[in-house]
Amino acid sequence: MSDTEVLLAQTAQPVVLPAQTAQPEVLPAQAAQPVVIGSLSPSRASDFKTCPLLYRFRSIDRIPEAPSPAATRGTIVHAVLQRLFDLPASARTPAAARAMIAPAWQQLLAEQAELASLFADDPAGDQLAAWLQSADGLVDNYFQLEDPTRLEPESREELVEVIVDGLRLRGYIDRVDVTAAGDLRVVDYKTGSLPREAFEAKALFQMKFYALVLWRLRGVVPRQLKLIYLADCDTLTYTPEAVELERFEATLQAIWSAISRATARAEFRPNPSRLCDWCDHHSRCPAFGGTPPPFPTEAVAESGADRRESASTSEQAAKIGDVHADQ
Ligand code: SF4
Repeated sequence: MSDTEVLLAQTAQPVVLPAQTAQPEVLPAQAAQPVVIGSLSPSRASDFKTCPLLYRFRSIDRIPEAPSPAATRGTIVHAVLQRLFDLPASARTPAAARAMIAPAWQQLLAEQAELASLFADDPAGDQLAAWLQSADGLVDNYFQLEDPTRLEPESREELVEVIVDGLRLRGYIDRVDVTAAGDLRVVDYKTGSLPREAFEAKALFQMKFYALVLWRLRGVVPRQLKLIYLADCDTLTYTPEAVELERFEATLQAIWSAISRATARAEFRPNPSRLCDWCDHHSRCPAFGGTPPPFPTEAVAESGADRRESASTSEQAAKIGDVHADQ
């Protein structure tokens, strides 16, 4: 049974928002602009949870981070899997997908010239060839996990955004599928390894974030959250519930309150963990004997729109890929 068939077979009545939460219809001229106190993306919220100082370096100081082959490969594979669905269903073959890899790399290189540094020490092109071949493997694995000829996504790489109690929640969703019954499935591709148990909750944090945003936008709780781990050729699925997303929303509000307090005090503490191994900021982190730059007092602690807005975030995330794949 295909994923879509499974989803259809599991279909129950959509979960809808309680009637009392429905917004009264307001004429455009009467509609007041909501006051926005800040914004969060899954990556930025996760940064703060992982290490407040890391959040500061990325979201307030906006310090660039070095590109990595793993993250760049993840970006390319995401682009290929997005464009695959531009083709007619019958043309969505492994060969067609592999043929998109090199052009996607060239396009990315044209957009981000600094990526040329990844293979600056490879005049013969051997490393580049091996790297592109590894992307072939990830794309091939995708076809072991899904049959794209039987899928017609509702959206791909969609920026979703909603304001909840003044907090703007935004992020890019790799793919949204909708069944004939109207059930939503949120799909995210990971090019890193399947996270070990301790990191599974972190991966689901991102998916719950998307589920919450879609629920608040559409009034329907997504039926399934699906993480596709291309390196491991495995998937992880999860069925969220409304009450759980309500708690998650409260968690995000609490994270934002903590960010606001830290910003007011200009105090973002390091939180050393094993993830430090993948952090670019040792030289300015007190946990490693470094000194942070002066706090930019004019800064507003505002999160961006996830990895596509900040290449550096994507880079760091994929460097963490072995233990917490963000792509
Ligand atoms: S090295 Fe570790 S403690 Fe320091 S900023 Fe990076 S993640 Fe935080």
